[in-house]
Amino acid sequence: MLVVRGALVVDGTGARPGLATVVIEDGRISAIGPDARITIPKGATVIEGDGHTLLPGLIDCHIHYCLDAGPDSLRSLEQDDPTVTAVKAVTHARATLEGGVTTVRDVGSRDHISISVTRAIRAGIIPGPRTLNAGLAICMTGGHAWFIGRQTDGMDDVVKAVQEQVRAGADVIKFIATGGVLTPGTSPGAAQLTLEELTAGVAEAARAGRRVAAHAHGAEGMKNAIRAGVHSIEHGTLLDDEAIELFLTHGTFLVPTLSAIQSGCEMGKQGGMPDYAVQKSVALGGEQKKTFLKAVKAGVRIAMGTDAGTPFNPHGRNAQELRRMVEFGMTPMQAVEAATHSAATLLGLENELGTIEAGKQADLILVNGNPLDDIALLQEPKNVVYVIQGGRIVKGEAGSSTRR
Ligand SMILES: [Zn+2]
Repeated sequence: MLVVRGALVVDGTGARPGLATVVIEDGRISAIGPDARITIPKGATVIEGDGHTLLPGLIDCHIHYCLDAGPDSLRSLEQDDPTVTAVKAVTHARATLEGGVTTVRDVGSRDHISISVTRAIRAGIIPGPRTLNAGLAICMTGGHAWFIGRQTDGMDDVVKAVQEQVRAGADVIKFIATGGVLTPGTSPGAAQLTLEELTAGVAEAARAGRRVAAHAHGAEGMKNAIRAGVHSIEHGTLLDDEAIELFLTHGTFLVPTLSAIQSGCEMGKQGGMPDYAVQKSVALGGEQKKTFLKAVKAGVRIAMGTDAGTPFNPHGRNAQELRRMVEFGMTPMQAVEAATHSAATLLGLENELGTIEAGKQADLILVNGNPLDDIALLQEPKNVVYVIQGGRIVKGEAGSSTRR
């Protein structure tokens, strides 16, 4: 039994934070309430939370365990020895968990490596977040990320590609609806898979009970994907008014991945990112600031996703995305909700994860200070003093807790 006492609790629901004690039994939250009202069970391990904030474990809806955040990480993945990539992916999973992220969605790996890594996490062989996988991203021939994705030719082949990912163990399906930054010769604004192909793919995913994420920067491809019925648009950088209307009427989530584009803008040139990728990042970077705020103001549902593993966007610093969300116009509370309750809802896990409520899985983080006063503190792994996953302490000094 585990108890966190006296921390400021930001519970993920948007409710006003307050000091509380949280009791964890059998991997789940069994009680939460003001310190005076909760009796601490005999034999429980108690973590003293004074001066700290307790939040739901963060959820990142867009990462790539296979990518190492180097200056040309997508192309270098193609050239790396797959065994080395697998070893890197193991270290990335651990870093992510230690950064306070207890659930992720990997939306594209090479050779299904992320699915294998996830199996090792689920078996308890290596530490890592709860992970949903897309397997290979499904694109058109020569489409964005083709050199590690599954290239398709027409509707029938898209359907087959979906079936292949399900067979390999994918929990979710990822389509490429426009060009991308890190693939030479593709334009982020240009539509790729067609409306018909996307519709056929979404229908096949639905038959298998899988949700769908679509990579889209440009408005045309984004609208195709929303009309086809995808659950989330990844990036959404060049959305226009019509796209916003579609987001709202379909209830589609936006996963903005500000960190991917903005890290490229800030560090790409001096860091050795290829010129074409720097140019595309800079062209998208200014637009993203405006379109993100527009989407927030319009009330588009937003779930946090970093694109961790893309250049200068390392695993473990995922919470830099919350800092950027706030810099670009969200309140700190909105950013926390995007990374907890909203993200859990996009993943279909809102009954189990994303808020601190009795009955939910005990995935929790205890951080130094108050992120609602300074959201940037979350991005430093050293400020995440405890990570609790399914009721188990997976990061934190056992010595600073006491046994009753
Ligand atoms: Zn990505």
